[in-house]
Amino acid sequence: MSQVILRFAPSPTGHLHIGGARTALFNWLFARKQGGKFILRIEDTDQVRSTKESIEAIVQSMTWLGLDWDEGPIYQTDRLPLYREHVERLLREGKAYPCCCTPEELEEKRKKALQEKRKPKYDGHCRNLKTPITGRPAAIRFKAPQHGVTILRDLIKGTIEFENAELDDLVIERSDGWPTYNFSAVVDDATMSITHVIRGDDHVNNTPRQILLYEALGYPLPQFAHVPMILGADKARLSKRHGAASVMAYKEMGFLPQALVNYLVRLGWSYGDQEVFTKEELVEKFSLENVGKSAAVFNTEKLLWLNGLYIRQEKPEILAELLLPFLEQKGLKPRSLLWLTEVASTLKERSKTLVEMADQAEFYFRSEFLFDEKATKKHFTPDIKPPLEMLIAKLESSPEVDEKRLEEIFKETISLKGIKLVALAQAVRVALTGKDVSPGIYEVMKILGKEEVLKRLARALSKI
Ligand code: GLU
Repeated sequence: MSQVILRFAPSPTGHLHIGGARTALFNWLFARKQGGKFILRIEDTDQVRSTKESIEAIVQSMTWLGLDWDEGPIYQTDRLPLYREHVERLLREGKAYPCCCTPEELEEKRKKALQEKRKPKYDGHCRNLKTPITGRPAAIRFKAPQHGVTILRDLIKGTIEFENAELDDLVIERSDGWPTYNFSAVVDDATMSITHVIRGDDHVNNTPRQILLYEALGYPLPQFAHVPMILGADKARLSKRHGAASVMAYKEMGFLPQALVNYLVRLGWSYGDQEVFTKEELVEKFSLENVGKSAAVFNTEKLLWLNGLYIRQEKPEILAELLLPFLEQKGLKPRSLLWLTEVASTLKERSKTLVEMADQAEFYFRSEFLFDEKATKKHFTPDIKPPLEMLIAKLESSPEVDEKRLEEIFKETISLKGIKLVALAQAVRVALTGKDVSPGIYEVMKILGKEEVLKRLARALSKI
């Protein structure tokens, strides 16, 4: 079998969103699994809506997700002569014609059709025009067959038949000389020898038009696979309204790329009831047969759960690096990367995102935090004062404060003062972190260091 060639072909008219990222991922996985080629093609022929920022955001998002491409980015604006050549060929062969209908005329006919409860469709007014009417700008329309059916054999949706009579004579080149999406996509997919087109099922209705163009141009068809939409919890198509954001926004919210990839792949694809996959496993196991026919529902809770899992699995030294920009935003500067690694290892079991981790890390950096009112009321009772004073004295006279020594100091104090370990530990916890939940108290003390611990204990004593 010859090599498979896939492409991801975003229009750079905004950020890369969840749906687009999933399309890119499915194409990438299929190409990697089959040992084929993956091309990134930027469909930037919409001069008004395409922006450089969007192109950058797309490239940045794909790079962050680890979806590398073998060719590209290829820009459609660099390929205008190729589209022109194909338009000329269709004109020469009588398979396309210039259309000089003005937008106003077309709008008039559209309104009339709607009034008469007919489906608005180009009426073929210019179908027999050989050359444009002088002085009038001409678009080029494809002379589509008016009878028969066009069959889409979709790898996901199955076979769908379209009545050709329902399809318009599509504009393939606008009067300003720019090709339209359906045309440039077909010319590109054909000349790039794309073997599989995997995309969102919002393109199903474009596909019969594209198939007719392939046939008119004498190119073999690729295989089509239309992936069902992603819905929000209310079963409406996923949008910003559902809190769904761009890929880069998920990065800013503290998600790890491997968690997002794992989450995205399960939106529509399944492998038994397995939920967690490494990228290597995905490449090995991905297949279009296991892409579902019904729409997937976006579930933020599940994404958070997966992210928490990936954070727990990550090496603390890597988490420390990843945490840096989030700390910087809060104006927090770690003592060293090694120190931050220790901080991260105390928090990785308790954070679902890097943002949460940075929030939870805050007490390590700031001595002058606010005490949680409920926690102080509960744990800063007058009878805790003497044990705390003893603990301070013992700490002061102790040359080192490793976890073993700390445990000894706590035990000596509680047995001499006749209180429970939990009472002393909780009071110390509130004194050092401001709250009554935190990582293990000995770990926290070790990371803060003796000097800082003594400073915070003294501050707490003054409040009791
Ligand atoms: N530029 C189109 C889009 O972003 C590509 C569709 C396709 O994959 O053919 O929707």
